[in-house]
Amino acid sequence: MHKLLVATQNRHKLEEYRDLLYDIGDIEWLCLTDIGLEHLHVEESGTTFQENARLKAEAYGESSGLMTLADDSGLVVPSLNGEPGVYSARYGGPSIQTDAQRYQLLLQNLADKSDRTAYFVCVIALYVPYQGVQFFEGRVDGHIAFAPRGTNGFGYDPVFELPNGRTMAELSPNEKHELSHRGRAVQLLLPELKYILSNN
Ligand code: IMP
Repeated sequence: MHKLLVATQNRHKLEEYRDLLYDIGDIEWLCLTDIGLEHLHVEESGTTFQENARLKAEAYGESSGLMTLADDSGLVVPSLNGEPGVYSARYGGPSIQTDAQRYQLLLQNLADKSDRTAYFVCVIALYVPYQGVQFFEGRVDGHIAFAPRGTNGFGYDPVFELPNGRTMAELSPNEKHELSHRGRAVQLLLPELKYILSNN
């Protein structure tokens, strides 16, 4: 049976990929703790989502010798020069502890801007031993609402409003999978992964 390492310690992320790639066939899904690689720290020192996804996929793929999937994602706000971007999880620095504090900071920083357009990006890097890395990028466009709405999802979901007027946090998990940046990246990955699995 093929093994696929998802370069995360977060079982929720592993489960999310498992759900999204449910029709990939018989595969053994592994996360870093399953193979004792949780202590190998990879600095996300890249300035793009693609660079960070590559750093993780290569480091964990080369250490494990396994087919490895790594991702990097975040929110881009053009009127804030692309912030929070690759720093989405760390926006505002270490003094900020919660997702709610982070999106409140974003709302403050946008207070005097007329352009509130924004998009989420997810880049998945797939490392295949002896073959290298391929990238799959998904994006969803919207804008930043004036106040948070909705209780689903995580991160900036309550303030990210889609063209249909709903925030990402007002979508059910299945609705979010359908149109999210991560869901779209996975839709691109799926046929390629099927092809690789049937040829290796
Ligand atoms: P990572 O790719 O798991 O490191 O996530 C980066 C950060 O981007 C997260 O901590 C969130 O702040 C933000 N982010 C990424 N994807 C989403 C999403 O689907 N909804 C809301 N925030 C997200």
